[in-house]
Amino acid sequence: MIVAIDGPAGAGKSTVARRLAERLGFRYLDTGAMYRALTWLAMQRGVPLGEGEKLAVLARAEPVTFDKAGRVLIAGTDVTATIRETRIDRMVPVVARHHEVREVMRERQRELGQRGDVVIEGRDIGTVVAPNAEVKVYLLADRDERARRRSAERPGIGTDALATDLKVRDQSDAERMQPAADAEQIDTTHLQVEDVVDRIQEMVRAIRTQQMGTASGSQA
Ligand code: C5P
Repeated sequence: MIVAIDGPAGAGKSTVARRLAERLGFRYLDTGAMYRALTWLAMQRGVPLGEGEKLAVLARAEPVTFDKAGRVLIAGTDVTATIRETRIDRMVPVVARHHEVREVMRERQRELGQRGDVVIEGRDIGTVVAPNAEVKVYLLADRDERARRRSAERPGIGTDALATDLKVRDQSDAERMQPAADAEQIDTTHLQVEDVVDRIQEMVRAIRTQQMGTASGSQA
């Protein structure tokens, strides 16, 4: 089963997706981390971020991998912590907007998402990467609340600056941020993580029950 969790930065995707995967015993795939790792590598190697074709060649040559502990690796380097820096937050959408880059990434994401049960988080999972996902969720939250959550993860940068960064990133991500028509939208502004996870887990349970009914129906 695929559970697709999309939504803007700071809506709670990572926390919710990780927790849900843990509870269900599903694998967890963070597609944002893949775009972040590629951005880091391109900056490291001086590949111009405006050149989609060159970035796509780099993405193909140096695929992002995740180890069992959830660490993010690219070109033999552990970039788990580095890709959460503000300089990367600001440059990822510049890299992610190239369709050549997205094609390489999506291909790899589908490959990684194919093996067994998985929770995949991103921006275009329910719409493009896994349109057949059995469960689709789109998480939302007020921008002030999202900035507040981010400030806990980005010490040293004020909430106002974070809110501005989120606004700029929302705008450049907007084309890829449309919720799937069949996604359940959940506004997390006033919700606790566990409540959101409960709701999605309930959706998974309902789908499983439905699938079991269909399977036993077809056997009869
Ligand atoms: O989710 P996260 O904040 O880590 O994503 C970082 C950036 O990667 C997003 O702002 C967006 O530009 C890009 N992204 C994307 N498609 C995805 C996941 C992330 O374009 N599926």
